[in-house]
Parts: sequence; C-alpha cells; structure tokens
Amino acid sequence: KNPIHIVGGGLAGSEAAWQAAEAGVPVVLHEMRPVRGTDAHKTDGLAELVCSNSFRSDDAESNAVGLLHAEMRLAGSLIMSAGDANQVPAGGALAVDRDGFSQAVTRKLEAHPLITIQREEVPGLPPAEWDQAIIATGPLTAPSLAQSIAEATGADALAFFDAIAPIVHFDTIDMDICWFQSRYDKVGPGGTGKDYINCPMDKEQYLAFVQALVEGQKTEFKQWEGTPYFDGCLPIEVMAERGVETLRYGPMKPMGLTNAHNPTVKAYAVVQLRQDNALGTLYNMVGFQTKLKHAEQVRVFRTIPGLENADFARLGGLHRNTYINSPTLLDQSLQLKSRPGLRFAGQITGCEGYVESAAIGLLAGRFAAAERLGHQPSLPPLTTAFGALLNHITGGHIVSDDEPGKRSFQPMNVNFGLFPPVEAPKTEGKRLRGKDKTVAKRRAVTSRALADCREWLGLAAR
Ligand code: FAD
Repeated sequence: KNPIHIVGGGLAGSEAAWQAAEAGVPVVLHEMRPVRGTDAHKTDGLAELVCSNSFRSDDAESNAVGLLHAEMRLAGSLIMSAGDANQVPAGGALAVDRDGFSQAVTRKLEAHPLITIQREEVPGLPPAEWDQAIIATGPLTAPSLAQSIAEATGADALAFFDAIAPIVHFDTIDMDICWFQSRYDKVGPGGTGKDYINCPMDKEQYLAFVQALVEGQKTEFKQWEGTPYFDGCLPIEVMAERGVETLRYGPMKPMGLTNAHNPTVKAYAVVQLRQDNALGTLYNMVGFQTKLKHAEQVRVFRTIPGLENADFARLGGLHRNTYINSPTLLDQSLQLKSRPGLRFAGQITGCEGYVESAAIGLLAGRFAAAERLGHQPSLPPLTTAFGALLNHITGGHIVSDDEPGKRSFQPMNVNFGLFPPVEAPKTEGKRLRGKDKTVAKRRAVTSRALADCREWLGLAAR
C-alpha cells in the first residue's frame, strides 16, 4: 500500500502516525527537528511538550478533558499510554515527566514496523503524489509551509496572531439582570433582533470597572510573541488606558439598547456577549480580548452586572498561533475541501491544548487509514468528547455577519458547552438546583459520552 505522509511529529502527528499504522497502513512521518527548530521546542524528541507538563484533569466523570482522556484510552491512544506510563504526582491532574514521555513516544514510533521517520522540513504543501497526507505542524508551523498554506487557502485563512476574548457558559449568566437584544434591534441574516446578551452598567460601576482594567495585572509577552497587534483587536485594557471614555465609545457603547428589565433607565455602558456555538450554550464577550492574567480576568469580569457567577469556558489571551479557518476549509473528516486526501490535524485546525491536539491527530490518522483501506471514515457521535471537539472545528460555531472581516472561529479547549445539553436528572422526583444540578448534568453527559464512544469504537459495553 502507498504510505500516508504525516508532516509534523508533535502531539497530533505522533498520534496520527500511531493510529494509522495500528490500522495496518504504512506511514512516513516527516519531522523537521533537529534540522530546523521552532521558537519553543528545545529537543529533537517527538511529541515534545513545549510548556507545562500537564494534560490537565484526569477526572472522566465531571471534567471534559478528563472525559477526552478516557475516550482516547479506549481508542488505543499512544499519547495517553505514554502519558500514563510517565505520570508524576499532580493531584487530580495527569502530569507527566516531559522527557520520559517524549522518549516513550519516540521509541514506540521508531520501533513500529509500518512507520518510517524522516527528519526533514517539508517546505510547502505535500506534493501531488502524496495522495493521503496529514499536515500536523502546530501553532509554530515553519514559515515557508505556513505561507504555502495561506496561498492555497486564501490570505485571511491563516491566523498568525491571535487575540481571544473570554467565553462564558450561558447557564451561568444572570438573565434577571441581562437581556437579549441586538443594537437598534437590527435583524441580520438568520438573526432575530435579539442576538446579543447585554449587561448594563451605571456610571459608578463603569468607572470602577475601567480602573480595575487599568490596574489589573497583565501577562508579559515572551520574545517569540513579539508581533504587533492590529488596531482592530486591541486588548480591552489597552483601550481603557487610552482614556476613561474610550470603552464607552467602543465595545461598551450603550447606544441602541434598552434594558428590558428597566426600560426607563438608560445604561451608562453595556457589555455585550454573542452566541459562540450553534447549541447556544456558550457566549463570547464582544471586544474583550485581553492579556490580563487569568485570575485577574475572573476577578474583574465578575464585577460586570449579570456575570457575578459567570463560569468561563475559556479566558482571553494574546499569543502567536497559526491556525486555519477550519469550519469553511475542512469537511467533517478534517479533509481540505479543495484537495481531497489532504487532512489537517492538531492545533493548526483550531483546537487548543496538548490533549485536544492529540485527539484530533487520533481522528485524522483513523480517517486517513480508513480511506486508504477503502472504507468511508466513521465519524464519532456528537455526544462524545471526540465528536464535540470535531464539531467545534468543522462547523458547530456561529459565523458573525455583523462585523465584516471578523472571524468568529477561535481555538478552544474541549469543554461541556460543546456537547448537546442533557436534562438534569431528578432525585426522588425532585428537581436538583445549583451545584448539585451542575454535577448531575455533567455526570449524565460523561456517561452518555463513554457509552456512545464504546459503541462507535465497536467495543462491547462493560
Ligand atoms: P506541535 O506539538 O507543535 O507539533 C508540530 C510539529 O511539527 C513540531 O514538532 C514541529 O517541529 C513540526 N513542524 C513544523 N513545521 C514543519 C515543517 N514544515 N516540516 C516538518 N515538520 C514541521 N498546550 C497545553 O495544553 N499546555 C501548555 O502549557 C501549552 N503551552 C504552549 C506554549 C507555547 C509556546 C505554544 C506555542 C503552545 C502551547 N500549547 C500548550 C498549545 C498546544 O497544545 C501545543 O502547541 C501542542 O503541542 C500542539 O500540538 P500539535 O501537534 O498541533 O503541534
């Protein structure tokens, strides 16, 4: 059989190579290190962890990334087995000895009879004779390949620099304080005139908020992040520093909005949140890209009326990140629509994190192997963590139509907002409330996910 060519031996590429080879398909894995390095990698090991050594929570019952761990283990993941074998104590988290982990992955791949590792940079899109290929070159994709991808997919398709705003779980927003309304009740295509959630502030609250933004602790840029930011995505605290009224004329302007709970009192400023996924379970804070430290974001943003108990699916940040606009460019099996047989995997598809990158690599490896063996790729159900993450990447988000040029697709960790909701189970016929309700709902989501994942993988239910 012709081999599948995988470009990039990071978290995603290593897992993809393993999955395809385990399915019986030969693989050539092209990794540029040590011939050429990146700004963050320090070794020539495959699946090097560039920063923290944590795979985050290992709790498969009530944590979305813990659930993803469990599903990956069921699917025979190399990244998870090497992680488990090199675990270091970290409470409920799965943390690993980074060198031991990377060496374990490298050894397993080197020893596999169907895998050939070539240490070379792939300078452009895979040549046409590589009829099945996976690009898994990560957030720090080498410049000439990044340029070829940008040329092939359209200039605005590859984000080199990322400004992200926080995302909030809808069910933690206090709708007795906030209300749904689009500015001037504008009805865009597919809209209702009530597309935004609005959080009102009076003058005193606004002035205190601006001061908290200006005084809040910021993350310093590292050297590899030395890209200037565009005026269109200035961090919120940089805008606040430009003058006390700047935000009231920018993302917090109150014009065209009437407080549904209190129509006669005009808000002095308004924070708007926009639906972030098709399920309506996540909302992003419009214009709130920030480099405030994470703990500061939680503290300061919870002073916004209606967000006092907000639970954040993702916090804001600014960093270099190369990723494609997957929802428009890829089909459901991660294949470039304009070039069947070429898939993308890992962080370059717009997922975020070691585990998520490896999980998307796992899927891409399986999909490519299935095609090589003459089968249709089998997609994981949306109710699984695999399916929820894949759906986020390939099309589950909302594309904003009222801000031309702005992309609504942004990298994200796996989280419960990406899953179809479940009814909260009742206890002795009574409805649960508060924390008990959240815990019960999460358990219902995770047990449904594991059962569906076993079925998808053809494993007998335990
Ligand atoms: P990578 O693991 O980066 O693998 C890509 C591989 O492709 C690399 O080995 C690279 O050398 C190779 N490559 C690139 N271009 C070419 C080419 N043209 N030809 C051949 N090979 C090529 N996530 C977390 O969960 N926790 C963290 O603490 C964390 N910290 C991060 C810190 C930084 C500085 C960055 C940039 C990202 C961080 N991430 C973190 C996010 C992300 O999860 C990791 O970057 C993750 O490694 C992504 O996996 P990947 O397989 O997509 O890319």
